[in-house]
Amino acid sequence: MNLEDIKRIKGLLSTPQRIAIIPHKNPDGDAIGSTLGLWHYLNNMGQNATIVSPNDAPKFLKWMPGSDKILNFEVENSQAVRVLKEATLIFTLDFNHLGRVGQMQSNLEEATAEFIMIDHHQEPSDYALVTYSDVTMSSTCEMVYNFINFLGDTDKITAEMANCLYAGIMTDTGSFKFSSTTSTTHRIVADLIDRGAKNTYIHNVVFDTNSPSRLHLLGCALKNMVILEDYATAYITLSQEELDTYNYKKGDTEGFVNYGLTLDGIRFAVIFIENKEEGIIKISFRSEGDFSVNEFARAHFQGGGHHNAAGGKSDVSLKETEEYFVSLLPKYKNDINQL
Ligand code: 5GP
Ligand code: MN
Repeated sequence: MNLEDIKRIKGLLSTPQRIAIIPHKNPDGDAIGSTLGLWHYLNNMGQNATIVSPNDAPKFLKWMPGSDKILNFEVENSQAVRVLKEATLIFTLDFNHLGRVGQMQSNLEEATAEFIMIDHHQEPSDYALVTYSDVTMSSTCEMVYNFINFLGDTDKITAEMANCLYAGIMTDTGSFKFSSTTSTTHRIVADLIDRGAKNTYIHNVVFDTNSPSRLHLLGCALKNMVILEDYATAYITLSQEELDTYNYKKGDTEGFVNYGLTLDGIRFAVIFIENKEEGIIKISFRSEGDFSVNEFARAHFQGGGHHNAAGGKSDVSLKETEEYFVSLLPKYKNDINQL
């Protein structure tokens, strides 16, 4: 953000606004952590802010202070629609184009509010009055910390905010190991701990609250893994029937895709998850090195994301999606194997 943007935002926040804060559909730790961090900050300064999420968040994020106040567009629809209609300012966090909010897209397009985008995904759309976009950032939570810092309010970061922001940085950096983790990220995380983030507790509630059925589903996923050594690729499929067998709950497949990359010599890992209700196959892509899964997802699977972590979807069957994916690999063999 440049000085002009900071002045503009200070001006807007110097008068009472009706504010809506929006995470992307199927919100992850960074989406929920950043929206809640900002929500606490704005409400603490006397603003009237509400988070409207396109759909529900997974259970392992619901310990975050304030998460029970998030409006779910799918469930509390009329209230959510009213908040969006009456908003004077809308913050969109952790996504780069309005298509990422699913059914809520038309409500955002029709809203009369000014928009502020805070996001770290590639190729941001141009819909906001202020676009704070930085693809080098580890997480949107790190950017919300910066945003508060730009406004001169670092000292107003409470323990509640620190816990939310820590959680998002932790999940989006794969517990501080992805290449987006910088020394600055660590300094910010250290400051958040000083301000009250309970780091050990957060690791525990996010990662160590498995249910037996989730571990069984992981077993099924790992058994289904196909390893294509020639293409340094490993992919997993999970059918709706398999999800049902293991009593799938939202968030249960989080992190499964990363197992492929733990194999020696594997540089491209993918998971295909059938969703009968939506009639799609939801896909997650992960890579190591120069191969851009953002470009791959954009080119072939209606998606996008980051250089080494992206998502997308397919409208044909699980089997056809798998076949199509495998047929693409020869073209990318060199890119994937390149060090
Ligand atoms: P995940 O695989 O964990 O769902 O997502 C990995 C990254 O890709 C995240 O930053 C996420 O926001 C982004 N992403 C996931 N699905 C999609 C999608 O369908 N479209 C776009 N543009 N990005 C996605
Ligand atoms: Mn993120």
